[in-house]
Amino acid sequence: MPGMIKNVLKNFISKSATRPYPIEVRPGFKDARGELTNQMSKCTLCTLCAKKCPTQCITVLRKELTWEVDPFTCVYCGICVDVCPQNCLSHSTEHKKPARTKTKLILKQEKPPAPEEIIKTDEKPVVPEKIDPGHDYH
Ligand code: SF4
Ligand code: SF4
Repeated sequence: MPGMIKNVLKNFISKSATRPYPIEVRPGFKDARGELTNQMSKCTLCTLCAKKCPTQCITVLRKELTWEVDPFTCVYCGICVDVCPQNCLSHSTEHKKPARTKTKLILKQEKPPAPEEIIKTDEKPVVPEKIDPGHDYH
């Protein structure tokens, strides 16, 4: 009993072992795969990221000139970032904030990409070396 009282008093006055999230948020680790975003000025809407995404959470609508991702379906694997021939996808180190409703990130392109650019990337996707070439990501 005296030992327990000592522990209770010690815990009462000592600093909490956990962070009071969301008041205090731990900064993201270097190279952490947090929120996904697209630099639309470089995106050619080639759809390669959508085709390679294992959870099919990316939708590319060429007619509407939009690229969208469902952050609640994304597993933050980074495959889309690795296969994008334009290097326009990136993860921030910050993780998705808690939310009451599920919303998608929808980004719109200001002007359509040149058609020859789209055909080129569709026919010959650039697969970086760090992706296992023997692995079928479909
Ligand atoms: S792979 Fe890259 S360029 Fe192609 S649609 Fe996705 S983000 Fe755009
Ligand atoms: S990180 Fe993975 S799951 Fe998320 S959008 Fe990219 S390929 Fe899909």
